[in-house]
Amino acid sequence: MSKIRTLGDMQNQGQQIQQPQITEEMVNSAENVECPDCGSFYIIQAFNYKLINKFVVGAPQDTVVPIPVSRCMDCLTVIDMETAIKDAADRASAKKNQE
Ligand SMILES: [Zn+2]
Repeated sequence: MSKIRTLGDMQNQGQQIQQPQITEEMVNSAENVECPDCGSFYIIQAFNYKLINKFVVGAPQDTVVPIPVSRCMDCLTVIDMETAIKDAADRASAKKNQE
């Protein structure tokens, strides 16, 4: 879906990659990933804990599965990170085209 590949994606595909050198200047000039509702760029991670009944999974004990959920720290909107990252990439390329 997303064109943006993470370090994890590349490692999962068994590719030999070099750790990219990210400088402070790169970080300072980088686009923020923002909350689509309020534009805040402070995003927190919460967990939705799912209790899977032992009879459903066929195990001796119930299992708890933590589902990570990204939320805006300011307005608490649940953020679809894939969309938010794509939006940030679109903003960054729009700025680049203006230069
Ligand atoms: Zn927000």
